[in-house]
Amino acid sequence: MTILSFFSRASRSFNGYPACSKLLVLCTLSSGGLVAYSESQTDVSNTSVEINAKDCKKRRVVVLGTGWAGISFLKDVDVSAHDVQVISPRNYFAFTPLLPSVTCGTVEARSIVEPVRNIIKKRNGEIQFCEAECIKIDAANKKILCRSTFDNNLVGNEEFSLEYDYLVIAVGAQVNTFNTPGVVENCHFLKEVEDAQKIRRSVIDCFEKAVLPGLSEEEQRINLHFVIVGGGPTGVEFAAELHDYVQEDLVNLYPTVKDLVKITVIQSGDHILNMFDERISSFAEQKFSRDGIEVQTGCRVISVSDKEITMKLKSKEEICSIPHGLVVWSTGVETRPVVKDFMGQIGQGSRRVLATDEWLRVKGCADVYALGDCATINQRKVMEDIAAIFKAADKDNSGALTVKEFQDVVDDILERYPQVEHYLKSKHLSDVTDLLKDPEGNARDEVDIGGFKLALSHVDSQMKNLPATAQVAAQQGAYLSKCFNHRQQCEDNPEGPRRFKGSGRHQFHPFRYKHLGQFAPLGGEQTAAELPGDWVSIGHSTQWLWYSVYASKQVSWRTRVLVVSDWTRRFIFGRDSSRI
Ligand code: FAD
Ligand code: MG
Repeated sequence: MTILSFFSRASRSFNGYPACSKLLVLCTLSSGGLVAYSESQTDVSNTSVEINAKDCKKRRVVVLGTGWAGISFLKDVDVSAHDVQVISPRNYFAFTPLLPSVTCGTVEARSIVEPVRNIIKKRNGEIQFCEAECIKIDAANKKILCRSTFDNNLVGNEEFSLEYDYLVIAVGAQVNTFNTPGVVENCHFLKEVEDAQKIRRSVIDCFEKAVLPGLSEEEQRINLHFVIVGGGPTGVEFAAELHDYVQEDLVNLYPTVKDLVKITVIQSGDHILNMFDERISSFAEQKFSRDGIEVQTGCRVISVSDKEITMKLKSKEEICSIPHGLVVWSTGVETRPVVKDFMGQIGQGSRRVLATDEWLRVKGCADVYALGDCATINQRKVMEDIAAIFKAADKDNSGALTVKEFQDVVDDILERYPQVEHYLKSKHLSDVTDLLKDPEGNARDEVDIGGFKLALSHVDSQMKNLPATAQVAAQQGAYLSKCFNHRQQCEDNPEGPRRFKGSGRHQFHPFRYKHLGQFAPLGGEQTAAELPGDWVSIGHSTQWLWYSVYASKQVSWRTRVLVVSDWTRRFIFGRDSSRI
């Protein structure tokens, strides 16, 4: 296929949405350029800060993890004021949203990873990196114990310990098998780059095995039955990628078995993509049904063997088993053992996930921060502080709160308790003082503590945990580095909301997540997207938006070029089916 035919194929995909899609691609790609340009500019300014601050005593900051949260922290933390040491068993950053594309060779594994040492080099080499795993956090002595992860006979110490002034835990999470028997032994996961590479090889194994001489048609069907457990974004994207791979490339290479391939998605809930808008979820189900991808909802897998997957149908309490060639397990994540152990030490042993406050500080432990998939923010409830808020707002101590008194503290309330804003939105209230209206909706001049409690009694119902996504992790990393860089400044001039319990202001603004939307690629050059402001966009034009956003979000120009050239290569030559 020539370059010309690539362009004709590309423009066919734009059919129906010509001008605006292309403009979008152009804008987003150029914004990627701006990001990279500003990256190179920050390096220059950091050098001068470093020289000025040479004499300051540097605080030792240990960062655990080189994923979305860790790397986003490292990109901006002021290395002139901090002695930064990074520990991770992975000496690279992986762009996880493109992992499903690696499973089918749409992009190559090395195109979506960036060596940590390349990233450090951009920070003038001031950051130290050790390829090791943290195996114990000793918060009482401000120390961590690490072990190198090389499984060869290199000489030297296996274990070492490090002291810190501040610890940043960004170790992510691990696959949750829900202790289902046989999952670890017989299923593939899709969490790490190695997992995606293993799936790519195993898919080809299934096809090569199916075309060996002497297999019955039934045996061929079993080998070519691909089962995905979990109908979330990762499972659905993998199913769609696999379907495209089979239809666009493998049917031509294995024509004798092309009609025997089956892809099944097993979902415990009633719908796939149930965290997305209903329109996206039903579009995905209809598209999968047209593509011949079977979706089994309301099924809970109870065991997996090397030959069969056994599940319980929720509605009928019936148990059934289906034979499989390959199973990919993608049902969510759980806390890593090192974090579980740490939670036990600090009195969080009964919790499922490590809790932090809104400033990402681990609860019950000084100078330790946790961000990304390994932690959740425990948002403070308005009702826990309602008496203190009332007392602080009632300036004249009259025992009643006037609208004016309430207005004076509203900004602090909205910043400290984001659920108030969500509540106002959900009730379509444009003015926060509408909360003070009486139950009939009439304005009141003032309310007493009872009326104030009643007015805010439902706002906490709008508290939501942030999702375990790269977007949240990256924003948290960037936020935390800002706090570290302004620590001194904000000690003298606190920038946060006022303290309702106690006096003064909080040192920093609390972390506030800004949702920029999310994608669900559905195959056949179609993607669904949920965009800010409850916008939903589905189709070919959204696929081009997906290409441009993911190209622009790459951490370096090197990976950006590699990813775009992989996509181009796939358009021209198709995917490579070699079993390497
Ligand atoms: P990770 O990125 O997982 O990084 C954890 C880091 O900690 C790694 O470097 C790891 O090696 C290291 N580590 C592990 N154990 C230790 C230890 N004991 N000591 C030191 N270091 C350790 N999110 C989106 O927003 N959009 C998407 O499209 C999207 N698609 C996804 C697709 C797939 C296939 C997957 C698996 C995830 C996807 N996600 C997506 C989710 C996203 O990848 C995670 O939310 C994100 O990676 C979380 O970032 P993190 O930094 O907390 O953890
Ligand atoms: Mg008063």
